[in-house]
Amino acid sequence: MRYIDLRSDTVTHPTEEMRKAMYEAEVGDDVYGDDPTVNRLEELAAQMVGKEAALFVPSGTMGNQIAIMVHTKLGDEIIVGANSHIVQHEVGAAARLSGVSYSVVDNPDDKIYKEDVIKRIRDEDIHNPTTGLLCLENALGNGTVVTLEEMEELYRVAKEYGIPVHLDGARLFNAATYLRVEAKEIAQYADSVTFCISKGLCSPVGSLLCGSKEFIKKAGKMRKLLGGGMRQAGVLAACGIISLEKMVNRLEEDHQNAKYLAQNLNEIEGFSVDLDKVQINMVFCEISIKDFNSKEFVEYLLEKGIKVNDGGSIFRFVTNKDVNKKDIDFVIDCIREYIYI
Ligand SMILES: *Cc1c(COP(=O)(O)O)cnc(C)c1O
Repeated sequence: MRYIDLRSDTVTHPTEEMRKAMYEAEVGDDVYGDDPTVNRLEELAAQMVGKEAALFVPSGTMGNQIAIMVHTKLGDEIIVGANSHIVQHEVGAAARLSGVSYSVVDNPDDKIYKEDVIKRIRDEDIHNPTTGLLCLENALGNGTVVTLEEMEELYRVAKEYGIPVHLDGARLFNAATYLRVEAKEIAQYADSVTFCISKGLCSPVGSLLCGSKEFIKKAGKMRKLLGGGMRQAGVLAACGIISLEKMVNRLEEDHQNAKYLAQNLNEIEGFSVDLDKVQINMVFCEISIKDFNSKEFVEYLLEKGIKVNDGGSIFRFVTNKDVNKKDIDFVIDCIREYIYI
């Protein structure tokens, strides 16, 4: 059975072209550095985000954690958003792997502003940890995008104080699509950046960590330390190349579908979406209906062939390559039926 899967964009299946590319991929042993397909992906990634070098890693989490390991030293403090992936979804790894503590910025819009950073940078007082890194995210997990001006301002402040900046750009290309700029225009305001090829870009596995040559050399060692050294990874990198060459331009379609879904949901009684916040492929919908049973709602949709995560009173719907406009119409019809009949 074919499902309409709105749980995430990580659920996208590799395209037929990707499956063929995997079959045909020229491979080597990447731990020896001689997998030509991995090397090609890394060069392409670095070039697209305007950095000297890149490293293919199994996940975005590993990319972020390696970045923190390389940028900081034991006992440092990192500045990071309260709802960021690094704080909420990485098992507290920065504390465990890098031995750093978190200075958490908790704004209602999930953004970090210049003032937040200035306030948190530690001085030389004997009681203080050293501020070792500023971690930014773009696009944010709430589906909104940080502007170039905001990024520039944050980068300038960090540089003024000699603090490196890491950008968790899991959905960097979604952010770039929304801002109508190239990814490198965003990434120029960070010393290192990770982005996922396994989400909207449809590869089965993987992320890229990008930065200076010196940074990526150290990062390669940390990837090995974490057990992330992969051998004939060219079969995966072959998909990544297609992600970067062919899938970036279609993200706009996911964004349009998200908007379309948001507008239609907003018209259903008890459903409300802040349309201004639908900037990429994610729709957050608040449901305020008397005696609404979210579990039953999820089960109902599943029976119709629609997969969504149970969000309680706030549901997140994520559009992706495997969901088209007709599917969205079907989803809307099913929800209407559930609510009105
Ligand atoms: C998905 C995501 C990651 C990485 O997730 P993995 O599942 O480890 O690849 C990192 N940051 C953000 C904001 C994400 O959305």
